[in-house]
Amino acid sequence: GQAQDGKTILPGASLGVMGGGQLGRMFVHAAQAMGYHTVVLDPDAQGPAGQASDAQIVAAYDDAQGLADLTQRVAAITTEFENVPAQAFEALSQNTRVAPPAAAIAIAQDRVAEKQHFQRHGVPVAPFAVVDSADSLQQVAADLFPGILKTSRLGYDGKGQVQVANLQELQQAWESLKQVPCVLEKRMELDFEVSVVLARGLDGSVVNLPVQRNIHHNGILATTLVLPGAIDADVQEQAVHVAKSIAAATHYVGVLCVEFFVLKNGQVIANEMAPRPHNSGHYSIDACDVSQFELQVRTLAGLPLLQPRLHSPAIMLNILGDLWFKDGQATAVAPDWAAALAHPGVHLHLYGKHEARKGRKMGHITITGPNAEAALGNALKVAGLLG
Ligand code: ADP
Ligand code: MG
Repeated sequence: GQAQDGKTILPGASLGVMGGGQLGRMFVHAAQAMGYHTVVLDPDAQGPAGQASDAQIVAAYDDAQGLADLTQRVAAITTEFENVPAQAFEALSQNTRVAPPAAAIAIAQDRVAEKQHFQRHGVPVAPFAVVDSADSLQQVAADLFPGILKTSRLGYDGKGQVQVANLQELQQAWESLKQVPCVLEKRMELDFEVSVVLARGLDGSVVNLPVQRNIHHNGILATTLVLPGAIDADVQEQAVHVAKSIAAATHYVGVLCVEFFVLKNGQVIANEMAPRPHNSGHYSIDACDVSQFELQVRTLAGLPLLQPRLHSPAIMLNILGDLWFKDGQATAVAPDWAAALAHPGVHLHLYGKHEARKGRKMGHITITGPNAEAALGNALKVAGLLG
């Protein structure tokens, strides 16, 4: 095909992105800043990415006409979420450069395939069992309890997950999940969680953002901390090493995030991977000399990759739709952004979503500072303002 070779796609060309959410929006921002034109394909005409993009194709992800239109209009195509049908991405790759590879997306969108892939490459994971039949459910080992039943496909932000203490609860949970294929994962004693965002180029060169620490509430990322020296060097090395080996194993091209659990006994085990920029890497926009979205542009275009440098300690706070609710009722009043912006080092990012819903990611704030104390102090003030 046209750009399957290692050719560099220079600014002035058009880049396509499958998906119209906030990750697509920030990809568009990065691409446009470097002089590229963008085309977003998304079924929603009003999405965050479409609002920012030069052009938009409003079509389902598997719409043959829409996909053909996209390949006509761009030099290369990436994705902003992993639930693009892997087949559609595979089809696009027949005549256009795509990154990441469709095969990596197929793995990342299926927890069973993902865990098996990790195991095949010697990457430690939490003990688990596949639950996809009444039989397999009955055969679940007793030491997987207490556990978390997770749908194999389409889960995100803790959705499609049920905590189960015993076989009876597992049965009920699987019914509540409509008996779709699932994994039962043992609930691990987490010390903390980290993730690694890396970028791998067409030539196999790979760079990574500094390792970030993540705090989740109710299965949704709440806070990311990138404070120099805060994470044990050994943990960082292990996580980066594993993330790179996962990327190499899939001949990955693009930005990849791997989430890890650090256990109370010090062990670092892989949780899941995302074949795209990740919420936990948003701090890189304001705190690194190259953001995860610029890395996505560079990998797609075949531009040089250089190791990112953290120039400021950073704390990222997610802004969920819950902030628009008072006493359980939706209000028309937005949080007091002006008050938040009165603190030094505050970088506000809002995604242009038209409706606030509980648990919905509406934006994020990154707080940077000259040192960790300053950044943390201001982050606490901002967090207090936002409730
Ligand atoms: P999602 O696709 O929704 O991000 P994850 O599998 O990453 O799903 O789970 C979301 C969060 O739930 C994790 O980041 C972690 O905080 C918690 N969690 C998930 N699985 C486990 C587990 N096996 N043991 C302990 N905590 C877990
Ligand atoms: Mg996760």
